[in-house]
Amino acid sequence: MKRLTRASTRAIWIIFAALLIAGSAPWGGHVSLSVAALQPAAQATQAVTPTVPRPTVFFEPTRVAPSGAQPFAMILCKFADAPETWQTPADFEKLLFGQDGLDAYWREASYGRISLAGSKVVGWYTLPQDAAAYRTEDGADVDLYRLAVDCTATADADIHFPDYTGIGMAFNMDVKASSRGGKVCLDLDGQTNCYGAFWLWPANSRNRALVAHEIGHAFGLSHSTVASEEEFGNAWDVMSQDGQWWPDPYYNPAPQHMIAHDKDLLGCIPAARKFTATARTQTITLERLAQPAPAGYLLVQIPIAGATSHFYTVEARRRIGFDASLPADAVVIHEVDTARDAPAVLVSREEERNLQATGSMWKVGQRFTDKAHGITIAVDAETESGFVVTIVTSS
Ligand SMILES: [Zn+2]
Repeated sequence: MKRLTRASTRAIWIIFAALLIAGSAPWGGHVSLSVAALQPAAQATQAVTPTVPRPTVFFEPTRVAPSGAQPFAMILCKFADAPETWQTPADFEKLLFGQDGLDAYWREASYGRISLAGSKVVGWYTLPQDAAAYRTEDGADVDLYRLAVDCTATADADIHFPDYTGIGMAFNMDVKASSRGGKVCLDLDGQTNCYGAFWLWPANSRNRALVAHEIGHAFGLSHSTVASEEEFGNAWDVMSQDGQWWPDPYYNPAPQHMIAHDKDLLGCIPAARKFTATARTQTITLERLAQPAPAGYLLVQIPIAGATSHFYTVEARRRIGFDASLPADAVVIHEVDTARDAPAVLVSREEERNLQATGSMWKVGQRFTDKAHGITIAVDAETESGFVVTIVTSS
Protein backbone atom coordinates (compact mmCIF):
# COMPACT_ATOMS: atom_id res chain seq x y z
CA MET A 1 0.00 0.00 0.00
CA LYS A 2 1.30 3.38 -0.95
CA ARG A 3 1.87 5.60 2.04
CA LEU A 4 1.75 9.34 1.73
CA THR A 5 4.99 11.04 2.50
CA ARG A 6 5.20 14.30 4.36
CA ALA A 7 5.79 16.08 1.04
CA SER A 8 2.69 14.64 -0.59
CA THR A 9 0.70 15.41 2.52
CA ARG A 10 1.83 18.96 2.22
CA ALA A 11 0.94 18.98 -1.48
CA ILE A 12 -2.62 17.96 -0.62
CA TRP A 13 -2.81 20.70 1.94
CA ILE A 14 -1.43 23.27 -0.49
CA ILE A 15 -3.93 22.35 -3.19
CA PHE A 16 -6.76 22.49 -0.74
CA ALA A 17 -5.64 25.75 0.80
CA ALA A 18 -5.38 27.26 -2.67
CA LEU A 19 -8.94 26.16 -3.42
CA LEU A 20 -10.15 27.69 -0.20
CA ILE A 21 -8.36 30.95 -0.85
CA ALA A 22 -9.72 31.10 -4.39
CA GLY A 23 -13.20 30.78 -2.94
CA SER A 24 -12.80 33.27 -0.11
CA ALA A 25 -14.06 36.82 0.08
CA PRO A 26 -12.42 39.29 -2.30
CA TRP A 27 -11.33 41.46 0.60
CA GLY A 28 -9.28 38.56 1.93
CA GLY A 29 -11.58 37.51 4.69
CA HIS A 30 -11.27 34.24 6.42
CA VAL A 31 -11.09 30.59 5.77
CA SER A 32 -12.07 27.59 7.77
CA LEU A 33 -10.21 24.37 7.29
CA SER A 34 -12.15 21.48 5.90
CA VAL A 35 -12.10 18.30 7.90
CA ALA A 36 -12.94 16.22 4.84
CA ALA A 37 -9.88 17.23 2.88
CA LEU A 38 -7.45 17.21 5.75
CA GLN A 39 -8.23 14.08 7.66
CA PRO A 40 -6.71 11.54 5.23
CA ALA A 41 -3.49 13.54 5.13
CA ALA A 42 -3.45 13.82 8.89
CA GLN A 43 -3.82 10.08 9.32
CA ALA A 44 -1.08 9.44 6.79
CA THR A 45 1.37 11.59 8.68
CA GLN A 46 0.61 9.94 12.00
CA ALA A 47 3.24 7.30 11.30
CA VAL A 48 5.80 9.94 10.42
CA THR A 49 5.60 11.90 13.66
CA PRO A 50 4.10 9.69 16.33
CA THR A 51 4.44 12.16 19.20
CA VAL A 52 2.12 14.72 17.63
CA PRO A 53 -1.08 13.11 16.32
CA ARG A 54 -1.76 15.64 13.59
CA PRO A 55 1.18 17.73 12.39
CA THR A 56 -1.13 20.00 10.47
CA VAL A 57 -3.90 22.46 11.08
CA PHE A 58 -7.45 21.18 10.79
CA PHE A 59 -11.08 21.99 11.41
CA GLU A 60 -13.23 19.86 13.65
CA PRO A 61 -16.96 20.46 14.18
CA THR A 62 -18.01 21.02 17.80
CA ARG A 63 -17.98 17.69 19.63
CA VAL A 64 -18.14 18.78 23.23
CA ALA A 65 -19.80 22.14 23.71
CA PRO A 66 -17.41 24.57 25.40
CA SER A 67 -18.59 25.70 28.81
CA GLY A 68 -17.21 28.18 31.29
CA ALA A 69 -13.94 30.06 30.94
CA GLN A 70 -12.12 29.32 27.67
CA PRO A 71 -8.72 30.96 28.24
CA PHE A 72 -6.67 31.72 25.15
CA ALA A 73 -2.92 32.31 25.24
CA MET A 74 -2.65 35.30 22.90
CA ILE A 75 0.90 35.31 21.56
CA LEU A 76 2.37 38.17 19.53
CA CYS A 77 5.16 37.01 17.21
CA LYS A 78 7.52 39.00 14.98
CA PHE A 79 9.24 37.57 11.94
CA ALA A 80 13.03 37.56 12.29
CA ASP A 81 13.43 39.99 9.38
CA ALA A 82 10.60 42.38 10.35
CA PRO A 83 11.24 44.38 13.52
CA GLU A 84 8.26 46.78 13.24
CA THR A 85 5.05 46.17 15.17
CA TRP A 86 1.80 48.03 14.60
CA GLN A 87 -0.04 47.22 17.79
CA THR A 88 0.97 46.94 21.41
CA PRO A 89 0.11 44.14 23.84
CA ALA A 90 -2.28 46.66 25.44
CA ASP A 91 -4.15 46.89 22.13
CA PHE A 92 -4.73 43.14 22.19
CA GLU A 93 -5.79 43.33 25.86
CA LYS A 94 -8.39 45.85 24.75
CA LEU A 95 -9.46 43.64 21.85
CA LEU A 96 -10.11 40.82 24.33
CA PHE A 97 -11.28 42.59 27.46
CA GLY A 98 -12.10 46.20 26.52
CA GLN A 99 -15.61 47.59 26.31
CA ASP A 100 -17.53 45.48 23.76
CA GLY A 101 -14.44 43.31 23.40
CA LEU A 102 -14.36 39.61 22.58
CA ASP A 103 -14.88 38.41 26.15
CA ALA A 104 -18.03 40.57 26.38
CA TYR A 105 -19.12 39.27 22.99
CA TRP A 106 -18.82 35.60 23.87
CA ARG A 107 -20.58 36.13 27.19
CA GLU A 108 -23.52 37.84 25.47
CA ALA A 109 -23.67 35.44 22.52
CA SER A 110 -23.60 32.35 24.78
CA TYR A 111 -25.98 33.77 27.44
CA GLY A 112 -23.20 33.65 30.00
CA ARG A 113 -22.15 30.07 29.25
CA ILE A 114 -18.79 30.88 27.61
CA SER A 115 -16.20 33.52 28.50
CA LEU A 116 -12.60 34.17 27.57
CA ALA A 117 -11.68 34.76 31.22
CA GLY A 118 -8.09 33.83 31.99
CA SER A 119 -6.83 34.73 28.52
CA LYS A 120 -3.39 36.30 28.57
CA VAL A 121 -1.51 38.45 26.06
CA VAL A 122 2.26 37.87 25.77
CA GLY A 123 4.92 39.14 23.37
CA TRP A 124 6.18 40.46 21.13
CA TYR A 125 8.61 37.59 20.63
CA THR A 126 10.91 37.08 17.65
CA LEU A 127 10.46 33.99 15.50
CA PRO A 128 13.60 32.06 14.52
CA GLN A 129 12.96 32.51 10.78
CA ASP A 130 12.33 35.25 8.26
CA ALA A 131 8.78 35.64 6.92
CA ALA A 132 9.64 33.99 3.59
CA ALA A 133 10.64 30.79 5.39
CA TYR A 134 7.05 30.29 6.59
CA ARG A 135 5.54 30.18 3.14
CA THR A 136 4.28 26.88 1.81
CA GLU A 137 6.53 25.25 -0.76
CA ASP A 138 4.66 26.73 -3.71
CA GLY A 139 4.58 30.16 -2.05
CA ALA A 140 0.78 30.36 -2.27
CA ASP A 141 0.04 30.36 1.43
CA VAL A 142 1.63 30.40 4.85
CA ASP A 143 2.46 27.25 6.76
CA LEU A 144 0.13 27.69 9.71
CA TYR A 145 1.41 24.63 11.51
CA ARG A 146 5.05 25.75 11.45
CA LEU A 147 4.03 29.21 12.56
CA ALA A 148 2.16 27.66 15.48
CA VAL A 149 5.12 25.46 16.47
CA ASP A 150 7.62 28.33 16.35
CA CYS A 151 5.37 31.03 17.82
CA THR A 152 4.36 28.90 20.81
CA ALA A 153 8.01 27.89 21.36
CA THR A 154 9.04 31.55 21.67
CA ALA A 155 6.45 32.04 24.42
CA ASP A 156 7.10 28.82 26.30
CA ALA A 157 8.95 30.47 29.19
CA ASP A 158 5.96 32.74 29.90
CA ILE A 159 3.05 30.42 29.17
CA HIS A 160 2.19 27.05 30.72
CA PHE A 161 0.12 25.86 27.78
CA PRO A 162 -1.96 23.15 29.50
CA ASP A 163 -3.57 25.97 31.51
CA TYR A 164 -5.17 27.23 28.27
CA THR A 165 -7.84 25.77 26.01
CA GLY A 166 -6.93 27.94 23.05
CA ILE A 167 -4.02 29.68 21.37
CA GLY A 168 -4.31 32.97 19.49
CA MET A 169 -1.38 34.12 17.41
CA ALA A 170 -0.87 37.59 15.94
CA PHE A 171 1.99 38.28 13.54
CA ASN A 172 3.55 41.59 12.61
CA MET A 173 3.47 41.36 8.83
CA ASP A 174 0.73 40.85 6.29
CA VAL A 175 1.82 37.71 4.53
CA LYS A 176 -0.82 37.55 1.80
CA ALA A 177 -2.94 35.15 3.80
CA SER A 178 -6.42 35.37 5.28
CA SER A 179 -6.88 35.04 9.00
CA ARG A 180 -7.66 31.47 10.06
CA GLY A 181 -9.29 29.53 12.83
CA GLY A 182 -9.28 25.82 13.52
CA LYS A 183 -7.42 23.33 15.63
CA VAL A 184 -3.78 22.45 16.05
CA CYS A 185 -2.24 19.69 18.17
CA LEU A 186 1.04 20.64 19.81
CA ASP A 187 3.47 19.02 22.21
CA LEU A 188 4.03 21.71 24.82
CA ASP A 189 5.03 21.62 28.47
CA GLY A 190 5.16 17.83 28.39
CA GLN A 191 1.62 17.35 27.08
CA THR A 192 0.27 16.82 23.58
CA ASN A 193 -2.98 18.75 23.41
CA CYS A 194 -5.24 19.84 20.59
CA TYR A 195 -5.96 23.53 21.00
CA GLY A 196 -8.57 25.71 19.34
CA ALA A 197 -6.40 28.25 17.55
CA PHE A 198 -6.43 31.31 15.33
CA TRP A 199 -3.87 33.20 13.27
CA LEU A 200 -4.05 36.98 12.68
CA TRP A 201 -2.15 39.45 10.52
CA PRO A 202 -1.85 43.23 11.12
CA ALA A 203 -4.58 44.13 8.61
CA ASN A 204 -7.21 42.24 10.56
CA SER A 205 -6.08 42.13 14.17
CA ARG A 206 -8.27 45.11 15.11
CA ASN A 207 -11.31 43.51 13.51
CA ARG A 208 -13.31 42.19 16.45
CA ALA A 209 -15.84 40.57 14.15
CA LEU A 210 -13.20 38.61 12.29
CA VAL A 211 -11.51 37.47 15.50
CA ALA A 212 -14.89 36.44 16.96
CA HIS A 213 -15.45 34.45 13.74
CA GLU A 214 -12.08 32.70 14.00
CA ILE A 215 -12.71 31.88 17.66
CA GLY A 216 -16.01 30.39 16.43
CA HIS A 217 -13.99 28.09 14.16
CA ALA A 218 -11.71 27.26 17.10
CA PHE A 219 -14.87 26.18 18.99
CA GLY A 220 -15.91 24.06 15.98
CA LEU A 221 -18.47 26.30 14.25
CA SER A 222 -18.74 26.13 10.44
CA HIS A 223 -19.67 28.84 7.98
CA SER A 224 -23.26 29.29 6.94
CA THR A 225 -24.08 30.09 3.34
CA VAL A 226 -26.65 31.90 1.28
CA ALA A 227 -28.58 30.26 -1.55
CA SER A 228 -25.83 30.93 -4.08
CA GLU A 229 -23.51 28.86 -1.83
CA GLU A 230 -21.53 32.01 -1.11
CA GLU A 231 -19.98 31.40 2.32
CA PHE A 232 -19.60 35.04 3.30
CA GLY A 233 -22.97 36.53 2.41
CA ASN A 234 -25.19 35.80 5.42
CA ALA A 235 -25.61 39.13 7.22
CA TRP A 236 -27.32 37.43 10.17
CA ASP A 237 -24.32 35.26 11.09
CA VAL A 238 -20.91 36.14 12.50
CA MET A 239 -19.76 32.83 10.97
CA SER A 240 -20.56 34.09 7.47
CA GLN A 241 -20.66 37.82 6.75
CA ASP A 242 -18.85 38.66 9.95
CA GLY A 243 -19.25 42.11 11.31
CA GLN A 244 -21.57 45.05 11.40
CA TRP A 245 -20.65 48.69 11.57
CA TRP A 246 -20.16 49.90 15.13
CA PRO A 247 -19.41 53.36 16.51
CA ASP A 248 -15.96 52.43 17.73
CA PRO A 249 -13.19 54.35 15.98
CA TYR A 250 -10.59 51.63 16.38
CA TYR A 251 -11.89 48.10 16.90
CA ASN A 252 -14.35 47.90 14.03
CA PRO A 253 -16.50 46.20 12.92
CA ALA A 254 -18.34 44.48 15.76
CA PRO A 255 -19.47 40.85 15.64
CA GLN A 256 -23.18 40.14 15.35
CA HIS A 257 -24.52 36.99 17.00
CA MET A 258 -24.15 33.58 15.41
CA ILE A 259 -27.30 31.86 14.10
CA ALA A 260 -29.53 29.88 16.46
CA HIS A 261 -28.34 26.53 15.06
CA ASP A 262 -24.75 27.38 16.07
CA LYS A 263 -25.90 28.45 19.54
CA ASP A 264 -27.62 25.08 19.80
CA LEU A 265 -24.37 23.29 18.84
CA LEU A 266 -22.53 25.31 21.49
CA GLY A 267 -25.02 24.16 24.11
CA CYS A 268 -26.34 27.68 24.68
CA ILE A 269 -30.01 26.91 24.05
CA PRO A 270 -31.62 24.98 26.92
CA ALA A 271 -34.04 22.22 25.89
CA ALA A 272 -36.94 24.24 27.32
CA ARG A 273 -36.16 27.12 24.95
CA LYS A 274 -36.06 25.04 21.76
CA PHE A 275 -39.33 24.13 20.09
CA THR A 276 -39.40 21.17 17.72
CA ALA A 277 -42.44 21.33 15.44
CA THR A 278 -44.65 18.30 14.94
CA ALA A 279 -47.19 17.64 12.22
CA ARG A 280 -49.88 20.19 12.93
CA THR A 281 -50.45 23.92 13.17
CA GLN A 282 -48.62 25.60 16.02
CA THR A 283 -48.28 29.26 17.00
CA ILE A 284 -45.09 30.11 18.85
CA THR A 285 -43.71 33.29 20.37
CA LEU A 286 -40.00 33.55 19.59
CA GLU A 287 -37.75 35.58 21.85
CA ARG A 288 -34.94 37.53 20.13
CA LEU A 289 -31.49 35.88 19.97
CA ALA A 290 -29.60 38.88 21.38
CA GLN A 291 -30.29 39.79 24.99
CA PRO A 292 -33.46 37.69 25.20
CA ALA A 293 -35.94 37.79 28.05
CA PRO A 294 -35.19 35.03 30.59
CA ALA A 295 -37.96 32.76 29.29
CA GLY A 296 -39.46 31.94 25.90
CA TYR A 297 -38.40 30.04 22.82
CA LEU A 298 -35.14 31.01 21.10
CA LEU A 299 -35.24 28.45 18.31
CA VAL A 300 -37.90 26.60 16.37
CA GLN A 301 -36.71 23.50 14.56
CA ILE A 302 -38.93 22.00 11.85
CA PRO A 303 -37.93 18.50 10.67
CA ILE A 304 -38.00 18.10 6.87
CA ALA A 305 -39.65 14.80 5.92
CA GLY A 306 -39.28 13.69 9.52
CA ALA A 307 -35.47 13.88 9.51
CA THR A 308 -33.40 14.82 12.54
CA SER A 309 -30.42 15.79 10.35
CA HIS A 310 -32.33 17.92 7.84
CA PHE A 311 -34.57 20.70 9.14
CA TYR A 312 -35.51 24.35 9.06
CA THR A 313 -34.58 26.63 11.92
CA VAL A 314 -36.56 29.77 12.72
CA GLU A 315 -35.16 32.56 14.90
CA ALA A 316 -36.09 36.13 15.87
CA ARG A 317 -33.48 38.83 15.36
CA ARG A 318 -33.80 42.30 16.84
CA ARG A 319 -31.32 45.15 16.76
CA ILE A 320 -29.98 45.17 20.30
CA GLY A 321 -26.70 44.35 22.03
CA PHE A 322 -24.16 42.89 19.60
CA ASP A 323 -27.02 42.54 17.08
CA ALA A 324 -27.59 46.34 17.17
CA SER A 325 -26.36 46.90 13.63
CA LEU A 326 -28.25 44.08 11.90
CA PRO A 327 -30.00 45.06 8.65
CA ALA A 328 -33.44 44.96 10.33
CA ASP A 329 -35.66 43.42 12.99
CA ALA A 330 -36.92 40.23 11.36
CA VAL A 331 -37.56 36.54 11.56
CA VAL A 332 -34.75 34.60 9.89
CA ILE A 333 -34.98 31.05 8.50
CA HIS A 334 -32.21 28.57 7.68
CA GLU A 335 -32.34 25.17 6.02
CA VAL A 336 -29.88 22.92 7.84
CA ASP A 337 -28.42 19.65 6.63
CA THR A 338 -25.97 18.44 9.25
CA ALA A 339 -24.09 16.33 6.64
CA ARG A 340 -22.89 19.41 4.75
CA ASP A 341 -19.54 21.12 5.47
CA ALA A 342 -21.50 24.36 5.83
CA PRO A 343 -24.72 22.95 7.30
CA ALA A 344 -26.94 26.05 7.36
CA VAL A 345 -28.22 27.85 4.26
CA LEU A 346 -30.06 31.15 4.65
CA VAL A 347 -33.58 30.94 3.22
CA SER A 348 -34.43 33.86 0.94
CA ARG A 349 -37.46 34.64 -1.18
CA GLU A 350 -36.84 33.33 -4.69
CA GLU A 351 -37.56 36.68 -6.34
CA GLU A 352 -35.17 38.50 -3.97
CA ARG A 353 -32.30 36.06 -4.04
CA ASN A 354 -29.86 38.74 -5.10
CA LEU A 355 -30.87 40.96 -2.21
CA GLN A 356 -29.60 38.65 0.46
CA ALA A 357 -30.20 40.90 3.45
CA THR A 358 -33.70 42.09 2.49
CA GLY A 359 -34.73 38.88 0.73
CA SER A 360 -34.07 36.90 3.89
CA MET A 361 -36.01 39.16 6.29
CA TRP A 362 -39.37 37.67 7.15
CA LYS A 363 -41.62 40.44 8.46
CA VAL A 364 -45.13 40.54 9.86
CA GLY A 365 -47.56 39.33 7.19
CA GLN A 366 -44.94 37.39 5.24
CA ARG A 367 -44.94 33.66 4.80
CA PHE A 368 -42.42 31.05 3.68
CA THR A 369 -43.77 27.92 2.03
CA ASP A 370 -41.97 24.68 1.19
CA LYS A 371 -44.68 23.05 -0.90
CA ALA A 372 -42.75 19.85 -1.51
CA HIS A 373 -42.58 19.12 2.21
CA GLY A 374 -45.84 20.72 3.28
CA ILE A 375 -44.21 23.29 5.55
CA THR A 376 -45.36 26.88 6.04
CA ILE A 377 -43.82 29.48 8.34
CA ALA A 378 -45.87 32.66 8.76
CA VAL A 379 -44.90 35.75 10.75
CA ASP A 380 -48.03 36.89 12.57
CA ALA A 381 -46.96 39.70 14.86
CA GLU A 382 -44.12 41.52 16.54
CA THR A 383 -43.82 41.46 20.32
CA GLU A 384 -41.76 43.74 22.54
CA SER A 385 -38.71 41.49 22.18
CA GLY A 386 -39.49 38.99 19.44
CA PHE A 387 -42.01 37.72 16.94
CA VAL A 388 -45.03 35.43 16.86
CA VAL A 389 -44.87 32.79 14.14
CA THR A 390 -47.28 30.12 13.01
CA ILE A 391 -45.80 26.87 11.75
CA VAL A 392 -47.81 24.44 9.67
CA THR A 393 -46.35 21.02 8.95
CA SER A 394 -48.18 18.21 7.24
CA SER A 395 -45.51 15.50 7.29
ZN1 LIG B 1 -14.17 31.38 8.42
